[in-house]
Amino acid sequence: MSNPVMSNPACPACDSPLVTITINVGAGERTMCSCSRCDQRWWQRDGRLTNLDGVIGELGQPEAPRARYRR
Ligand SMILES: [Zn+2]
Repeated sequence: MSNPVMSNPACPACDSPLVTITINVGAGERTMCSCSRCDQRWWQRDGRLTNLDGVIGELGQPEAPRARYRR
C-alpha cells in the first residue's frame, strides 16, 4: 500500500500542523487545510496555501466566507 509522503503545511496563523483533506474539483485537485487550533481554513493548490476566496470561484459554489475571527 503506497502512501505518498506529503508534508503537512503549518497554519500561517499559529504554526500548528494543519489537517488536510484533498478533494477533486473541476479545475483539479484541491486540498482543504483546516486548523483545529484557531479554527481557520485554507486551501492548498500547487503546493501553496491560498485563502478560501480564491478557490470558491473555482468550485462554483457561492458560499460566504465565515467570520475570520471567532471569540
Ligand atoms: Zn492555526
